[in-house]
Amino acid sequence: MSSHPPSHRPACALPFTQPFAELGDAFSRVVRPQGVPAPRLCLVSLDAARLLAVDATPHESADAQGWAELFSGNQPPPGCDPICTVYAGHQFGAWAGQLGDGRTHLLGVVPAPDSSQNGGYAHWEVQIKGAGRTPYSRHGDGRAVLRSSIREFLCSEAMWHLGIPTTRALCLVASPLPVARERMETAAVVTRLAPGFIRFGHFEHFAYTGQLMALRTLTDWTIAQFYPECSQAANPALELLKAVVRRTAHLMAQWQCVGFIHGVMNTDNMSILGWTLDYGPFAFMDGFDPDHTPNTTDRFGRYAWARQPGIARWNLMALAQALLPLIGQPQSAIDAVEGFNATFSNSMRDLLQRKLGLGDVRPGDDELVDRWLAAMAESRADWTLAFRLLAQLSTIPGGPVPAAFQSVFATRPEGMRAWIVDYRVRLQANESTDAERRASMDAVNPRFVLRHHLAQHAIARAESGDFAAAQDLMDVLRHPYAEQPGRDMFAAAPPQDADAPALSCSS
Ligand code: AMP
Ligand code: MG
Repeated sequence: MSSHPPSHRPACALPFTQPFAELGDAFSRVVRPQGVPAPRLCLVSLDAARLLAVDATPHESADAQGWAELFSGNQPPPGCDPICTVYAGHQFGAWAGQLGDGRTHLLGVVPAPDSSQNGGYAHWEVQIKGAGRTPYSRHGDGRAVLRSSIREFLCSEAMWHLGIPTTRALCLVASPLPVARERMETAAVVTRLAPGFIRFGHFEHFAYTGQLMALRTLTDWTIAQFYPECSQAANPALELLKAVVRRTAHLMAQWQCVGFIHGVMNTDNMSILGWTLDYGPFAFMDGFDPDHTPNTTDRFGRYAWARQPGIARWNLMALAQALLPLIGQPQSAIDAVEGFNATFSNSMRDLLQRKLGLGDVRPGDDELVDRWLAAMAESRADWTLAFRLLAQLSTIPGGPVPAAFQSVFATRPEGMRAWIVDYRVRLQANESTDAERRASMDAVNPRFVLRHHLAQHAIARAESGDFAAAQDLMDVLRHPYAEQPGRDMFAAAPPQDADAPALSCSS
């Protein structure tokens, strides 16, 4: 970490280095991005800009064009040699073979002026997505469309402000370049930040192609960069696996608790840091349906909300398999992955206790929580609103139940009445007042998430050239737990006539 970070510098002065390139050609290639015609800087996350200590108001300054040229890949600054890395993966449960950065370029690494902002790591990697074909593009065009780029931009920042580990989004550059998807769309490039973009699939690539020296190099590098505490262990690769299992389990609990459905939990989309990575056909659930997935390509619901933890475990087993040549002890590797269950359950229970305002676990709490979730599912209660409404319920036995609460559970009024009686009895055991309980619940139950219909509205406006709605939405999502009076429309469930999220992998 640099001790005296510059507080203000133009983006073109970012001191990019490229340490991963030093591992050699087996891992990455230097690739000059194709860039885009007529790039226009449309969205900037000032929070993310601050992370790099770069000039935080470029879109209002003369430097906007400089940002557009740099972060479209058109003009990498002197000393910046973008690379693309190779990885593989299991997609929808089947081995997909070699993949790789088919449309992302790593511009390089810059020191993190404040490592407390990125999980304690000393660096940020800066990656652009959509700047053209690479040696790993296969049949793809190397592009990302404006629609999916806005979704990734907004969701990255929204997740971060929810307190969930995720890659960040620095800016979005749009271009009139036509891109063919289900319909003709236009191109955009999102700049992402993360301490690292290594995926489970990076390890799978080297393991399943029998490149065991390279597998060791990658593992040593990953441990040195991101898990130095594993390096002294008797079996560092096993320690690495255990650490990734723990982080992934916590991440899954966090996703579940905000009703986030990733949509494509292939092993190539799983971060070795346990951070959320690659926003495609994701959604925040509106009405609670455990079997829901917004991804229309996922016909059997492999990646539905209820299956995410199990799939994470499945993916961790694929990672364990890839690391096995280094771990050398199959049973230890299996045990490490088995550790997912306890970590996930504990993390989930802890979060749900807080979400329901129950405090420390007491006998019967699990059943109370399960009944609440079952009632929510039966009524298709809005995942986000239901918890905020629950916080408003007074503890007084026989006291009033807010009308909004009753309407959320209108399809199951008797069951909910019985549950409320038990919930109130349980809350008597806590010594907090209603106001205290509400404050603590509101601090963990967001009022604002990136609902599909809000994103769609921002996208429609942006596609006609107006990014104000996307900007407004981002501003709201910066404070997801705050009440934000006057912003009710951003908190509301989708209107009756809104389309349910139905997204394909095509982005
Ligand atoms: P995804 O489903 O977005 O996680 O991508 C899976 C793989 O396909 C990765 O190797 C991506 O880099 C690659 N890919 C996805 N879309 C494109 C595209 N339009 N052009 C080139 N490669 C792509
Ligand atoms: Mg991906």
